[in-house]
Amino acid sequence: MTLSPATRAAQALHHINAETGGVSPAIELSSTFARDADYAPRQPYIYGRDGGPTTAQAEAVLASLDGAARALAFSSGMGAITTLMETLPNGAHIAAPAMMYHGTLSWLRHLEARGRIRLTLFDPTAPDYPAADLLWLETPINPTWEILDIAAARAAAPEALLAVDCTAAPPTAAIALERGADIAFHSATKYLGGHSDLTAGILSLREDRLASDLMRLRTLMGTVLAPFEAWLLIRGLRTLFLRWERASANALAIARHFDGHPRIAQVLYPGLESHPGHAIAAAQMPTGFGGMLSLLTDTEDTAARTVRRTQVWIPATSLGGVESLIEHRKPIEPPESTVPPNLLRLSTGIEAADDLITDLEQALT
Ligand code: PLP
Repeated sequence: MTLSPATRAAQALHHINAETGGVSPAIELSSTFARDADYAPRQPYIYGRDGGPTTAQAEAVLASLDGAARALAFSSGMGAITTLMETLPNGAHIAAPAMMYHGTLSWLRHLEARGRIRLTLFDPTAPDYPAADLLWLETPINPTWEILDIAAARAAAPEALLAVDCTAAPPTAAIALERGADIAFHSATKYLGGHSDLTAGILSLREDRLASDLMRLRTLMGTVLAPFEAWLLIRGLRTLFLRWERASANALAIARHFDGHPRIAQVLYPGLESHPGHAIAAAQMPTGFGGMLSLLTDTEDTAARTVRRTQVWIPATSLGGVESLIEHRKPIEPPESTVPPNLLRLSTGIEAADDLITDLEQALT
């Protein structure tokens, strides 16, 4: 019987504890594992920095949901990214969009400044995907939500290691791997965890051969996901598809409501038919366009005032949790950021859409 991802997620791969019958995975907190009577390590667990059973369980669920040969869990999204970049040889050519999550961009600029890599940044609004050693995509792009075409990138750079940051749309990870990506990346801090109570990163690998180098470096760099966070991640994953559906419906209602609003110059949301990436998004995001959208307000001042006036939307960074968050991005981006000064980033949660719309209306006006 072929089970849908929603079923596999809800049951954490039909988890039943063999000893107790418990339907919620047990948590193994040990940071070291005893050798057997012959003093041989009981593979695969030796020491916590290599990983442990609870982390391995989270990885198994993620590999299944993403259709990956293997998923590896890291202590944060940036822990996964920095470990992945460390696998590249000196002088490697990395190409990435000029607008994307500022942490990834800052890390690439850091590597370039140290002479570790050659960096090409391409325009995400008219992408001409360069043939690099590593082609890094993010789609939708945080916080302006352009859509990149994964299959087109694969065709343009057949030799590149193709990695896709699926943080803002976890269900696209399986599609990314199907369309030829080698690696689907998630900041699991966001939708995968879903409750704003853990920090984690995932690399889902289309082929197992990439795993050994990544695991060796993960151990050496100390970037593995700890057991308690892995357990929280498994727990969060069980409701992923339900949360995704609700957040997508809420965001679409908000996008439609504020499209054409007197205080809003533009709504940036791939679910709107007017969005330039809508057709590609519809193909890459068949289960919904997600909860992330941005509003370009009439003035920067409107954006600055709105985040001080909301009563339901919480003014905080991050995204993908059950509670709705609002951010005026410009003041918190690094100085070189090209994010528009009038951009309000909304992470739509699972509350009632009417409450979210009413609150934004009163805060805007
Ligand atoms: N990628 C994207 C698109 C993000 O939004 C973030 C965090 O906001 C990251 C990567 C980094 O993940 P983390 O904060 O878990 O290190």
